[in-house]
Order: sequence, then structure tokens, then C-alpha cells
Amino acid sequence: MGNEELGKVNFWIWYGGIGWQSKNMAFLVQKYGGTSVANLERIQKVAERVAESRRKGNRLVVVVSAMSGVTDGLLKMARGLHAEPSEREMDLLMATGEQTTTALLAIALQARGIAAVAMTGAQAGIVTDGTHMKARIANVSPKAVQAHLRLGRVVIVAGFQGQTMEGQVTTLGRGGSDLTAIALAAVLKAKRCEIYTDVDGVYTADPRTEPGARKIAEISYDEMLELASTGAKVMQARSVEFAKKFGVVFEVRSSFNRARGTMVKEEAKSMERVVVRGVSLEKSQAKVTLVGVADRPGVAAKLFTGIAKAGINVDMIVQNISLPMGGRQGKAQTDITFTLPREELAKVRKFLEPFVRSGGARQILFKEGVAKLSVVGIGMRSHTGVAAQLFRALAAARVNIQMISTSEIKITVVVDEEAGSKAVRAAHREFRLGKRV
Ligand code: ADP
Ligand code: ASP
Ligand code: MG
Repeated sequence: MGNEELGKVNFWIWYGGIGWQSKNMAFLVQKYGGTSVANLERIQKVAERVAESRRKGNRLVVVVSAMSGVTDGLLKMARGLHAEPSEREMDLLMATGEQTTTALLAIALQARGIAAVAMTGAQAGIVTDGTHMKARIANVSPKAVQAHLRLGRVVIVAGFQGQTMEGQVTTLGRGGSDLTAIALAAVLKAKRCEIYTDVDGVYTADPRTEPGARKIAEISYDEMLELASTGAKVMQARSVEFAKKFGVVFEVRSSFNRARGTMVKEEAKSMERVVVRGVSLEKSQAKVTLVGVADRPGVAAKLFTGIAKAGINVDMIVQNISLPMGGRQGKAQTDITFTLPREELAKVRKFLEPFVRSGGARQILFKEGVAKLSVVGIGMRSHTGVAAQLFRALAAARVNIQMISTSEIKITVVVDEEAGSKAVRAAHREFRLGKRV
């Protein structure tokens, strides 16, 4: 997310906050994800929960996702009609998922005698740029939402969607209802922002695949951001970035029970005691190696500019040490390897094959079926030997490491997808993530 996305929102936050600060009342933004609104029975459960909170006197903005599976179903239908459906129409199509749930929840609340109003993203003032399917929020104009709140209504907002200044419907990228909730909480200066989902909070690893995973009581924005960016889909990464920028403290918790969840907030000194907070796994990745690339200025720039222009997101770029002996006509050559989501492989192939034919590289190697395993923790800043410890644990589990990259609070390795869960288990055990209280 670029700074321009966040910069403009400042003004609106200040503007939107005035009314609420003076009234000093319990004002909550809640978000219910797809599984929490998967069918009418669950929508009724959500309605009960919202009604209960309203009866206690809270004012509420409730953001909802599409019923689980609906967004995927819509995507599949469109792709069945066209291999590359137009993004403008895809946005129009996908935005219907959230609108259905919004209207149904408002109706369920009205049936309980609670004044409620359903709004699309556009009606709720979510203004975005024109990048269809992964639009950035340009500003949020909260006037209409505030007017409904003043009239005592619960405002139900369709997540994941917005509208450009020109009136085009846009969506905010997969998982984007989290961003809608965080942005509204920031702009309206909510007292609490609660993200309701199908697990009890943020865990030390995906609880569905790692049975030893443990719920984390509190986690810093930076750790949550790294986990979310590396496969922990419990929060959309962009929404965490937004929350950090505007200091929105939020809680991730279950919509199926009353247990306290995970608080995501600014880091505190005590958080540094934990070296590794969590482990994530990003599956369905592919690895591309360009063999024999000329080792001179401008080559990588040309290659990756072309890849970026083709709209392909690459990650973990590694360039090998130059090999002067092996090069054509004795010229220095190198190999470049990078990873990308497997679904982008066809696109990158289309771009790279002509690049190789025109002499840009000697050969390309494609490898599917790889995954990225990451360990994340702000404690890594002040502890040494964490990478070595991870490598030892993977070696003991006989997991081969294909690529390595490190940053201040994260270590990522590429492994065979098949070995992914075994690798997560080994890392989880090594850093005693299941044991701590
Ligand atoms: P929602 O539809 O509520 O937005 P998501 O499916 O987007 O829910 O995210 C919740 C899922 O994230 C969980 O069901 C869980 O399998 C997955 N997940 C992955 N990593 C983690 C983690 N570290 N902690 C909790 N959940 C995780
Ligand atoms: N329905 C959208 C998705 O499946 C947005 C969301 O659920 O947050 O990605
Ligand atoms: Mg989600």
C-alpha cells in the first residue's frame, strides 16, 4: 500500500472524529467474516449478537463479508465464461456477494425490532482509486454513516468494496472486508474494533494445520503484518498496515463463542522477550530461475520492470554470485531466481520466453509445488542465532531448504510444498510455540 493511500485519509479522520469525541459513547466497529455469515442460521446468530450489544446501549457499525464460498463461486462462474474476465466487470460481480449479506443482516435485525440500515461500500463513503480488484482507499467520507448512527441505527456496511470518484465499483483485494472495518474504525474513531472470524484469535501457526498451535494474547502490528503477508490469512495484510498507520487497536476473535481473542497493537517492551511469535506457510508458490543472465548494470532493471508491467507480483529475488568462467565469450554471467504465486506462472512464462529467445538468458527453469515457510518475531532484533536454530530444526526433520531470505523480524525459507506441514511442525516445536503460557 503506497503512502498516498494513507496520507489522504488523515484529514478525514480528524474531520470524522469530532462528533464522536464530544459524545464520548461506546462506539464499536465489528466485522464478521464469510464463515460467520455462511448461512441464514449463522446470520441469525450474528444478528442476535449485534442486537444484544445494541440493547446494552452501544452504537455499532457492522462490516460483513460475503457468505463463505460466494466470492470464489462468482470468480469461478466468470472464469468459466472467459479465461481473463475484464476486471471492471469482475468488481461489479464480486461486490454483489457482500451486498447480499449486508441486506440480510439488516433485515434480520429489523425483525428483532432493532433499527438497522444496510449500505454498500460506496454509500458508506469508501472512495478508492481505480485499480480494479485491488483498489486502494483514497479517502473515507463518514457523513452518511454518522447521520444514520445519530438516528440510533445500527449501520451494516458491505466489506471489500468501494467506489471511484467517477462512480465505478471497485474491490479491495481478497480478504478486503478487514480493510473496510479498520478504515471505518479509524475514520469514525471507534472505541473498539472487533474482527470476528472462525477461529479464536491469531495463533502461533494456522490452527487448522498445526494442532499444537496456541492462541496469542497480544501481538504487535509488525508481527501481525509479517505473518499476514506470508500466508496467515486470518487478517488481510493491507488492513494491518492501515491499522498501524492510524493506531487502530483491534481484536481478532471468534463469532462462535465469547472467548477473548488476540489484541493487535503497538509493540510494548515486554513483547521483545519472545523471539519467535509465530510461524506461517504460504503454499501454491512457484520458483523461476533464469540461468546465464548477463552480469552488467541494467539487466535486472529491464527484467523486473517488464515483469512488473505485466502485473506479476514476484518475491524473494536472489542473484547468484557472478561466474566469469562459464559465460558466453568469456563475459560474466549470473543466475537469478525468484518466487511467485503458482497462478502467475503462465503470465510470467509468456513474458520470459521471448526474453530468453532474444538472448536475455541462456535458459529458464520453472518449479511448481514449492511453499514459503516464515518465522516471525520482534524479539529477533535482539537475539542472535535464530536462523541457525531454524535451519537445524529443518535439517533434523529432513526438510531441504531451497532458498533463504531474512529481514529484521522474519526468516523465510522455500521448501517443497509437500514438506510444508512437516516444516511448520518442526519450527513450531523448535521455538516452543505450543508450550508457552
Ligand atoms: P474470515 O472469513 O473470517 O475473514 P479467513 O478465512 O479469512 O476468515 O481467516 C481465518 C482463517 O485463517 C482461519 O480459519 C485459519 O485457518 C486461518 N489462519 C491461518 N493462519 C492463522 C493463524 N496464525 N492464526 C489464526 N488463523 C489462521
Ligand atoms: N469476500 C471477500 C473475499 O472472499 C472479502 C472478504 O471476505 O474479506 O476475499
Ligand atoms: Mg478473511
